[in-house]
Amino acid sequence: MTTSTRPIAFFDMKAQQALIRAEIDAGIARILDHGRFIQGPEVDAIEAKLAEFTGAAHAVGVSSGTDALQIAMMAEGIGPGDAVFLPAFTYTATAEVPLVLGATPVFVDVDPASFNIDLEDLARRVALVEKEGRLRPRAVIGVDLYGQPANWPAIEGLCEKHGMFALDDAAQAFGGALHGRRLGTWAHATACSFYPTKTLGCYGDGGAILTDDPERAELYRSLRTHGEGKSRYEVLRTGMNGRLDSIQAAILLAKMPLLEGELVARRQAAAWYEAALGGRVATPQVTAGAESAWGIYTILLPDAAVRARVQAAMQAAGVPSAIYYPKPLHHQPAYAAAHAAGITAGAPPLPVSEDLCNRCLSLPMHPYLAEGDIARVAEAVLSSL
Ligand SMILES: *Cc1c(COP(=O)(O)O)cnc(C)c1O
Repeated sequence: MTTSTRPIAFFDMKAQQALIRAEIDAGIARILDHGRFIQGPEVDAIEAKLAEFTGAAHAVGVSSGTDALQIAMMAEGIGPGDAVFLPAFTYTATAEVPLVLGATPVFVDVDPASFNIDLEDLARRVALVEKEGRLRPRAVIGVDLYGQPANWPAIEGLCEKHGMFALDDAAQAFGGALHGRRLGTWAHATACSFYPTKTLGCYGDGGAILTDDPERAELYRSLRTHGEGKSRYEVLRTGMNGRLDSIQAAILLAKMPLLEGELVARRQAAAWYEAALGGRVATPQVTAGAESAWGIYTILLPDAAVRARVQAAMQAAGVPSAIYYPKPLHHQPAYAAAHAAGITAGAPPLPVSEDLCNRCLSLPMHPYLAEGDIARVAEAVLSSL
C-alpha cells in the first residue's frame, strides 16, 4: 500500500459538503423564502426520517445532544435526592445534566474491552446507594462510547429490576446497532447529538430524542418549548427553550441520504486500521452482536509516556490525533464533590477509567479516508513505538 501525501483531517466535513452543497444551498434558500425559522416543516420532515432510520416510534428534534439528555431527564422528574448512574469515562455533558437538575451523578467504571459501562460495577454501586439509603437510584445513562453500543440488554434488565429509567447517550453512535436493531429503541429514551463532527452532524448545534413511548414523546415536545400545552400560551410545566431550528433540520435532511454509505465507509476505515495496527497496538474490538457507528477510532498505548511520544511523532508527520478523554469525570474539579457525595462510605475505585485516560489515543476517523491515508496514519503511529 502506498501512503498518501494529501492533508489528513481528523474529522472531514468538507469532502462531504462538496457532495451535497447544491441541496444544502437549496434547502437554506427555501427557508429564507418561507421564513419559518423555528419549528418549520424541515423539523417535521427530519423527525420522520430519524424515526424511520432508527426504527423508533417517535423522534423529537431538540437544540443539542446535551439538551436531549436534559429534556429526557426532566420528563422523568429527576432531581434532588436522585442518583443517576453513568460511566466515569465519557464526555462531560453526560455528568453535567444530572447536576444541573439537582440530582447526584454516581460514576461507574467501564469495561476494559468495550470502554462502555461495566455492568458488574454498575450493579455493585446501585446496591451501595440502596444500602446507604440517602439517595434514590433513579436512572442509568449508558453511553455508546466512540460509536460502540453499550450492553443494552443487561442495562435494561438492571433498570427494570430497580425501577430505574434507562437513558441512552448515543451522541457518538448515531447509526450504530445491536443484535440487528439500530440504537434508538433500546433504552426508554435515546439522546442523539448532531454536533458537526458526530456521525450525523448539522452545521451548528442540534439533537434529537428517540423513544417508542408516545407519552414520553409528547412530554419532550412540551418541554422543548417552555412546557407549553395544546395552545401556545398555556404553560403546563417548567420547560426550556430546547428546539431544533429549521436550517439545521435542512442540513440534516441533505445529509441523510449519505448516511448508510458513510457508515459502511467508516467500517472500512476501521478495518484498514485493524489490518495495519492490529497486534502492534491495542485496537478497538467490537463486542459480539454490536455494530459500531465508528464515531471515533481510539487505540490504547502501553503508557502515558509512549502515548506522548506517538502523538509527537504523528504531529511531526502532519497527522492529527486527539485524546478522548484525558481525565476521568470523578477527577474533574467540577464533579469531585458530587462524586464524594454519591457513595459516602467504601466507594469502590474506578481503576479502568483512570487507566484508559492515560493510554487512549484517537486517530483520524471519517468516511472520506482512503486506504493510503490510513497507511500514513499507521506508519506515523508505528514509527515511534
Ligand atoms: C457530543 C456529546 C454530547 C453532547 O452533545 P452536544 O450536541 O454537543 O450537546 C453528549 N454526550 C456525549 C457522549 C457526546 O459525545
